[in-house]
Amino acid sequence: MDLPSTPPFAIRARLLTPLEAGSTLHESDGLVVVDEAGRIAFAGAAEHADERQRAAAIDLRPWVLMPGMVDLHAHLPQLPNAGVGFAVDLLTWLDRLTFPTERSWSDATIAERLAPDIFEAFAAAGTTTVLAYGTVYAAAMEAAFEAAEAHGVRAILGKVMMDRGTYDPIIEPSTILERSLQESADLIARWHGAADGRLGYAVTPRFAVSCSTDMLRESATLARSTGAWWQTHVSEDPFEIEEVRRLFPDAPDYVDVYDRAGGLGPKTVLAHAVHLSEREQARLVETGTRIAHCPASNLFLGAGVMPLARPLEAGLTVGLGSDVSGGPDASVFSVMRAGAYAQMARRSLTGDETDALGPLGWLRLGTLEGARALGLDAAIGSLEAGKDADLIVIDPAFVAPLPGVEDIDPVGLMSRLIFRAHPDMVRAAWVRGRRLDGPARRG
Ligand SMILES: [Zn+2]
Repeated sequence: MDLPSTPPFAIRARLLTPLEAGSTLHESDGLVVVDEAGRIAFAGAAEHADERQRAAAIDLRPWVLMPGMVDLHAHLPQLPNAGVGFAVDLLTWLDRLTFPTERSWSDATIAERLAPDIFEAFAAAGTTTVLAYGTVYAAAMEAAFEAAEAHGVRAILGKVMMDRGTYDPIIEPSTILERSLQESADLIARWHGAADGRLGYAVTPRFAVSCSTDMLRESATLARSTGAWWQTHVSEDPFEIEEVRRLFPDAPDYVDVYDRAGGLGPKTVLAHAVHLSEREQARLVETGTRIAHCPASNLFLGAGVMPLARPLEAGLTVGLGSDVSGGPDASVFSVMRAGAYAQMARRSLTGDETDALGPLGWLRLGTLEGARALGLDAAIGSLEAGKDADLIVIDPAFVAPLPGVEDIDPVGLMSRLIFRAHPDMVRAAWVRGRRLDGPARRG
């Protein structure tokens, strides 16, 4: 199959996308026209396009064109560990599995070697935008940004900041705060907004357990003064929450630790938020803080089950995160599946009768809501004219229960893409109309 590598181009396919207005667009005979600048010039029913546009299109029917997935939370250096560590609690998992792997990136040549494959793995899973953590090493972060720039993925990355219990044996502890801030500032200067805004920087204090009050505050100040994002973890696991209580005895709860540091706001993405109190949730709503919901990770490490309907009803902006390798798989589709099952299990166990999120609701969380969480919804997250052409195309034959069995309706189609997701189903991915390496590597 000859798929376009660069814009302009037009693809005729089945279309499935959430819309800004709140509904979902499904066209069994759809057309997406991408202009020279890599923006969507038309997305809709093929019969509504003009004859010339239709004639120029590559016909991929019955393949399905969708917006690329937005992964709001991942750890680049942990990809090699993906799929191992089941049921090891968070703090033990960090110590035994994760910190040693991250420490290996003290050798920047390892980051240089792995980073291109890592971005290809995200693209292969259908992810076109990723917000991710690196390691504490600036040179490895540089290598990761260079790989993202060359690959074409839309990426917001950050060097991990830790000045308590860090895994780095070399840096003199008394100099960590200053050094980490300076390295982050240098990376921001070089990469925040690079590649015409395709790359961005997120100031990344790991979580309250690994950071002093000073580091949290200074990192938040750095993010605010440079316009970078600020990302960290919150309220993931009961042992972690207990540890935060011990380390920050003056704070009434976990969210308050970040609040006092000046860390909350619309450019902040907090991963997990599984066990929030009413007060914590209300404060996140009030400040416009965003949440990366990571149900696959939360089940894998036994952290807990977020009562998803609650933050959604409260008006929090929630997207989805793979949290590899706390989560076992880089695919946002498999995150949706874990999330859907987790909510069902929660309903059965608690007698909670709130409506379960349906397949199209999960699609929205994994695309448009993720984009909204990053403040990028004017540019990405749905197939609508004027947005950047961040697209994926899926061959639904990979999820058909029997050859020739097709889903006519969009709910059935999305349901199979979630509950029967196949690692090879994404056949191509584009960012701004430029095709990404990664999908269909296995033929
Ligand atoms: Zn994480």
